[in-house]
Amino acid sequence: MAKNTSDEQFKNVISHAKEYGFVFQSSEIYDGLSAVYDYGQLGAELKNNIKTYWWKAMVQMHENIVGIDSAIFMHPKVWKASGHVDGFNDPMIDNKDSKKRYRADQLLEDKITRYEKDGKTDKAAKLQSDMDDALKAEDLAMLKTLIEQHEIACPVSGTKNWTEVRQFNLMFSTQFGAMAEGSEEVYLRPETAQGIFVNFLNVQKSGRMKIPFGIAQIGKAFRNEVIARQFIMRMREFEQMEMQFFVRPGEDQKWFTYWKEARLQWHAALGTSPEKYRFHDHAKLAHYANAATDIEFEFPFGFKEVEGIHSRTDFDLSQHQEFSGKKMQYFDNDLNEEGKPYGNYIPYVIETSIGLDRMFLLTLINAFEEQDLSDGEKQDSRTLLRLHPCLAPIKVAIFPLTKKDGLPEKAREIMNNLKFDFNCMYEEKDAIGKRYRRQDAIGTPFCVTVDHQTLEDDTVTIRHRDTMEQQRVEIKHLDELIASKTSWKTLLRK
Ligand code: ATP
Repeated sequence: MAKNTSDEQFKNVISHAKEYGFVFQSSEIYDGLSAVYDYGQLGAELKNNIKTYWWKAMVQMHENIVGIDSAIFMHPKVWKASGHVDGFNDPMIDNKDSKKRYRADQLLEDKITRYEKDGKTDKAAKLQSDMDDALKAEDLAMLKTLIEQHEIACPVSGTKNWTEVRQFNLMFSTQFGAMAEGSEEVYLRPETAQGIFVNFLNVQKSGRMKIPFGIAQIGKAFRNEVIARQFIMRMREFEQMEMQFFVRPGEDQKWFTYWKEARLQWHAALGTSPEKYRFHDHAKLAHYANAATDIEFEFPFGFKEVEGIHSRTDFDLSQHQEFSGKKMQYFDNDLNEEGKPYGNYIPYVIETSIGLDRMFLLTLINAFEEQDLSDGEKQDSRTLLRLHPCLAPIKVAIFPLTKKDGLPEKAREIMNNLKFDFNCMYEEKDAIGKRYRRQDAIGTPFCVTVDHQTLEDDTVTIRHRDTMEQQRVEIKHLDELIASKTSWKTLLRK
């Protein structure tokens, strides 16, 4: 059956994620905390597998990229230097009737998506370019004018009774130190990148890194997003996987292009259809960037950013040099074309920054399928997650055909051997067909069934999730067969 990307399908994905233990609303028994989510037993596994795929592709596969794990709390001056204290704002507008607050640019983006859906592509393009101009000029009045001109109403009250557009800082702050007096205001980091910049020299010196080289990290980030929507798409606590690649000034454009392609290839290796992805080059560049693009994925609610690739110039390191008074320079003794060392300079930086939670959502949406298996008179269907085997939370489920005759013992013996290398699940409840369906629904690529014949000749049936094909194999070959499909090589060699 063709994949349905409607709102209905999105709702199904959300309820599936809850029903099978992928994602829960945080503090649900207290009616939840808005835009904060918990990952359940299968969600935690899937999330870890996505992290591993990123870490292996970025760190393990590159001799010149290393990974760190910096603290969430950082010296308050870091956020002064980075520009976040003064400039990490969103343009907000309130509806006077519903008292609801919205991001002005997102109201406009929703309108653009609606124009596109209605085939009004000229109107969509014009509004996009007007909005880009207004954002670039930080013209808040113009944003309001566009909202009025395009007759955008509040989704809650239905009225067009808007306040002026104002800037709103997205950083969470808290008090550091036990005493009220003398305690200092610190921020929960809104991005992981600054933890990399402030460690640039530590890593470069201790790792004897030579430019070009990269520093990667995966970690939590916090933003007091004003509107939180679309499930785990926009959260107040989320995770980022970021890599800062330090290059010679003047070589930034070359590396920007390189990382654009490399990162798209990382997504493509998972087998997603290429039409689902596109680049969106930024018209409005952040204060630190000289080029920026988003990798966008076609979610059921339109093309949205999953990852940003930014050419950040020497902005961050220069700022930290100025604010800390410590030199952030690199001595490059490689020879240039004139045969002279490049000497001292502050490196330029290309950043790749992907939201782990958005990647998780993309992966679920892409894998989710309701398949019609009706055969003539007989109506049948199944829900499956066509996850890449490397990402699947459970690699192999092991079933004894019945609960007696020594079959459970044999099944456990097989599992006790496989579990060193693969995440396994043992199930003996319900008919085999039902057990298969449950595994399909959580994306398990292989099910192994132990039956009476197993006790005689040490063979089992292995059932493949996508084709539902069953194969009789010797127990001693199970390891190899599962490994051949779940090895990281299948993804990283592409
Ligand atoms: P957006 O325009 O959607 O707010 P952004 O451009 O502010 O995103 P960046 O600062 O470039 O995002 O962050 C890099 C990545 O972090 C994004 O591509 C996204 O995947 C992820 N991300 C950013 N904000 C959130 C959030 N509130 N919840 C979940 N993921 C996020």
